[in-house]
Amino acid sequence: MPIARVALPVATSTPFDYWLPEGLPVVPGSLVRVRLGPRRLTGVVLEIVADSAVDRERLQPVGDVVAGPPLPADVIELARFIATYYQESIGLACALAVPPLTRARRAAAGKGAPAIQAPRRELNRDQAAAAAAISAASHYVAFLLCGITGSGKTEVYLAAADAVLARGGQVLILVPEINLTPQLVARVQAARPDVDVAVLHSGLAAGARRAAWLAAAGGSASIVLGTRLAVFVPLPALGLVIVDEEHDASYKQQDNVRYHARDVAIWRAHRRNVPIVLGSATPSLETWLAASEGRYRRLDLVERANPRATLPRVRLVSQRGALAGDGIGPELRAALGVRLARAEQSLVFVNRRGFAPSLVCAACKWEAQCPRCSARLTTHRSPPALRCHHCGHAERVPHACPTCGNVDLVPLGFGTQRLERALAQAFPAARIARVDRDSTRTRGAFAAVRAEVEAHGLDILVGTQMLAKGHDFPRLTLVGVLGADNALYSADFRATERLAALLVQVAGRAGRAGAPGEVIVQTDFPDHPAYAALRNHDYATFADALLAERRTAQLPPVVHAALLGAEAHQRADVDAFLAHAHAAATKLAGRDVEVFAPVPALLARRAGFERGQLVVQSAHRPALQRFLAQWTGALAAWPGRRARWALDVDPTSFG
Ligand code: ADP
Ligand code: ZN
Ligand code: ZN
Repeated sequence: MPIARVALPVATSTPFDYWLPEGLPVVPGSLVRVRLGPRRLTGVVLEIVADSAVDRERLQPVGDVVAGPPLPADVIELARFIATYYQESIGLACALAVPPLTRARRAAAGKGAPAIQAPRRELNRDQAAAAAAISAASHYVAFLLCGITGSGKTEVYLAAADAVLARGGQVLILVPEINLTPQLVARVQAARPDVDVAVLHSGLAAGARRAAWLAAAGGSASIVLGTRLAVFVPLPALGLVIVDEEHDASYKQQDNVRYHARDVAIWRAHRRNVPIVLGSATPSLETWLAASEGRYRRLDLVERANPRATLPRVRLVSQRGALAGDGIGPELRAALGVRLARAEQSLVFVNRRGFAPSLVCAACKWEAQCPRCSARLTTHRSPPALRCHHCGHAERVPHACPTCGNVDLVPLGFGTQRLERALAQAFPAARIARVDRDSTRTRGAFAAVRAEVEAHGLDILVGTQMLAKGHDFPRLTLVGVLGADNALYSADFRATERLAALLVQVAGRAGRAGAPGEVIVQTDFPDHPAYAALRNHDYATFADALLAERRTAQLPPVVHAALLGAEAHQRADVDAFLAHAHAAATKLAGRDVEVFAPVPALLARRAGFERGQLVVQSAHRPALQRFLAQWTGALAAWPGRRARWALDVDPTSFG
């Protein structure tokens, strides 16, 4: 009696055996429905074997087979890699590759009238050289396409894709944000109207996602464009992988299976022996290191593609005066006035949503705190509330201080809502829109704002990092940055890397067409290297310096790290678990693996849970991998049940 070995979406690390009823059309990769205890689950058949270690009487039969193509061998292999590398169950890893099982409905995009008309562009010299290098690669090569903002990376992707499409191959394009997909889809379709494009991201309805998945798996879609989950889609004719904005933090999944889609894409390209392009104006230090060691081939685009566009002039101005007023200092105010007079657009960037990041009592210094987290509550005005941005807790804004009764409660600091109000007061005639997670909660809200910007129905945009990425607004000539200094106080060692990337990206929105752009950064630390990189348009020097620092301090990406996070209602339970984990780690760690002492997480309490963490690291990835495999075994055997834990391999944040 043949046995199907099935990966089920549960945390248990091993697959489950089921016997195969005769005549059921099951092959490795088939999606099948089975029973596990009282539950009915859909799983992936990993292999079909002759015998099981489990008694025949205790085995259950495979229920039925889900209609549709099985997962191909290379996708199963990818899931196995994820399970091993990230120390996750094979079932949860396989679940990443399972498409929605609803009936397929209209694909998200396909042939049809292009949304915008774009002429085929003559590539400039750098673009042509980059595209030629990529097109010439017929096997695995990792390229870093290091192109300043507005240098025309998209045109390079398209030109490189052409060579693959001409051979009948498929191209996978990963983008970091759902919000960026429609714009890129429109550009791709306009440039290549005869090509079938399938779009995959979590914002799509299940039916549309299934349709896109089927088009990719069946080979009818030549370009597959999507967010991180698209890295798992079957692509029988894969010829090229592109990861746009490869530095972007949203490629890392922060819960469940904590994979990094860029790293997974590299692994997949390697296994499929096809070239991969990582594009960015501000490469991650991981990628920067790999390029400097020659593991990746660097291709540079050093000029803006539009011959009339220049890099924006960057001015660093004092923040102190502005904070005493409404947040907008005199330089920024004057510059905004000039843009309004010229009918040009401006963007004011502040990385805080809400009205003010805290609420304090002027008399006794009481501060509104989240009852469930070790964090302050943010003051919101529209609608009014105190909100926790970590756990979602919300409460009414008090009329008086709960400790001393004083009615003088002061919102401290600046969020998007406060700046929106300040701008409206300063420029009553201006058409202003706010873009943050609150204002874009409803489907289509972000696209509506973008359409308004394009139609010149808006003068000033105020918003968070949602506005920083990828957008190409030709009439935008001024970018103001507020409150960026906050990142310099962060305890996370990656904060300055992220700050520099964010600043370069947000500044890159200015002056992309003919009119010259200007960036005004309000800061009290104008000499900080992150700001120097921005002012001098020199990310490379900054990245080199940061990398040297990481080498001295033995921090990633120079070493490889894993972070064990634990949480429980009682601090003592967290401590007990981490003490056990630490003891086990110390015993297992050879010379090559370094084990740090447990510490409280940066956010020591979240949503009522006490949190702690422990970092292990090694200069040798295989040594760390061997260690982790043994260590997770020891952790799973921990008899205590009160602490939840999760391992994050290659964490992007140590908080
Ligand atoms: P990036 O992604 O590198 O920031 P984009 O791909 O968005 O840059 O291109 C920036 C702008 O330059 C776009 O408006 C694009 O249409 C334009 N562009 C790209 N390549 C060329 C070219 N060869 N000649 C003229 N304009 C170009
Ligand atoms: Zn008080
Ligand atoms: Zn909270």
